[in-house]
Amino acid sequence: MLRSALLAIIAISAAHAADKPNIILIYADDLGWGDVSCNGATAVQTPNIDRIAKEGINFNSGYATSSTCTPSRFSLLTGKYAWRQQGTGVLPGDAAMIIDPAKPTLPAMLKKAGYRTGAVGKWHLGLGGKEGVNWNQEIKPSPRELGFDFSHIMAATGDRVPCVFIEDGKVQNLDPADPIEVTYKQGFKGYEGLPNGVKDRASLKMDWSQGHNMAVINGIGRIGYMKGGTKALWNDEEMADHLAGQALRFIRESKDAPFFLYFAMHDIHVPRVPNPRFVGKTSMGPRGDAIVQADWQVGEVLRLLDELKLAENTLLIFTSDNGPVIDDGYKDQAQEKLGTHKPAGPWSGGKYSILEGGTRVPFLVRWPARVKPDQKSSAIVNQIDFAKSFATLTGGDGNFPDSQDVLPALLGESEEGREYNIEHSGQLAIRMANWKFIPAGPKGKVPDRLINLGKDPSESDNLAETFPQKMQELKAKLAEVKGGE
Ligand code: CA
Repeated sequence: MLRSALLAIIAISAAHAADKPNIILIYADDLGWGDVSCNGATAVQTPNIDRIAKEGINFNSGYATSSTCTPSRFSLLTGKYAWRQQGTGVLPGDAAMIIDPAKPTLPAMLKKAGYRTGAVGKWHLGLGGKEGVNWNQEIKPSPRELGFDFSHIMAATGDRVPCVFIEDGKVQNLDPADPIEVTYKQGFKGYEGLPNGVKDRASLKMDWSQGHNMAVINGIGRIGYMKGGTKALWNDEEMADHLAGQALRFIRESKDAPFFLYFAMHDIHVPRVPNPRFVGKTSMGPRGDAIVQADWQVGEVLRLLDELKLAENTLLIFTSDNGPVIDDGYKDQAQEKLGTHKPAGPWSGGKYSILEGGTRVPFLVRWPARVKPDQKSSAIVNQIDFAKSFATLTGGDGNFPDSQDVLPALLGESEEGREYNIEHSGQLAIRMANWKFIPAGPKGKVPDRLINLGKDPSESDNLAETFPQKMQELKAKLAEVKGGE
């Protein structure tokens, strides 16, 4: 009797495990398709990222939804195209939360399906309500209101104030006697006495090339002004250790339940200030060394999964929020030391671009219990599809407007991914099979373009006049997607 009950319990927990693997999404920032050695990079080695590819699937048509941070993250977490909602472009660090907590989100869906959910790292989706954030009290809404049981985040980006970490809605290490004030209004009103990147430029440890000349924190100019919170300020050199530590902490604390970890690394966004132990690891200066640092963080996660014996039943995804950028506002030698390295691989464009390099990013999936190792896939998959696909996987509610169930493709069981892929960089483009249509630019400066990506990865040969019917087909599909929700 006792034995059969025990067997039944074992059977139930085994079934539970197969349905509900742990899910870890490691989200790099501004890392290009060609920035990892499993996609051909030689000037930088990424053995830990490569290990995910070797033990799982490497997608060559895996996409971020947009070519910048905020809209990609918005689309990933809501299963809804950011371009359907006003105000989802790159946000200042004191923006209000742009995701409506009343609408479906990926973490809320997984939480309801029985997962412990955590967000660590870069947020950049706004915090608090429209009345403005008071950084000195509990901030609502924060990731908790979107379904994250735990969060340890930076409000926006490394190059924007406030330069502090926020855990579960509260600024960490904040001294109430030294309250934080933040503004993104132009001019120095109220902040005249504090260092800024214009008058104190000579003292900066990393000079700026564009913007990044307001508050000076840790010797680096930022976007926006900030005062107070001295004890709470982060140290850029220790950021990777800090965030990896929080990701590992969440995994340890969640190991007995199915868990979902959204680990949004800061690397390799600017300012690129890797820890001294990574400095000089490549010939490419801080940008290359930050890639090595990103790879180290991935290795920390892999190591802990092995140590806790969780690797087998953890669905691990590694990808990036948009394509690469070389000079993104700091004089960090990224251009001068690039050499022959191709951050976007064979694709043209990068961050901010409608060309493939803008959104086609490293995209790796590993799940030893179900996914065969050493696979390559050409299925078209997009980060917006995680919401619906994970709902299918976990029995959750898949009510997401733009997300598609591409689970068989994500698990390497099918080469059929999306029929179409929408690319976004302010304007929209559409890919179907190997064809891509980029509508004419504003004022007709650039004509309608039809590209055959299979033959022309650099997108230099406009076939609009050669295949007008094909172009009409893509144009119609794009109009249909734009019209629907
Ligand atoms: Ca980014």
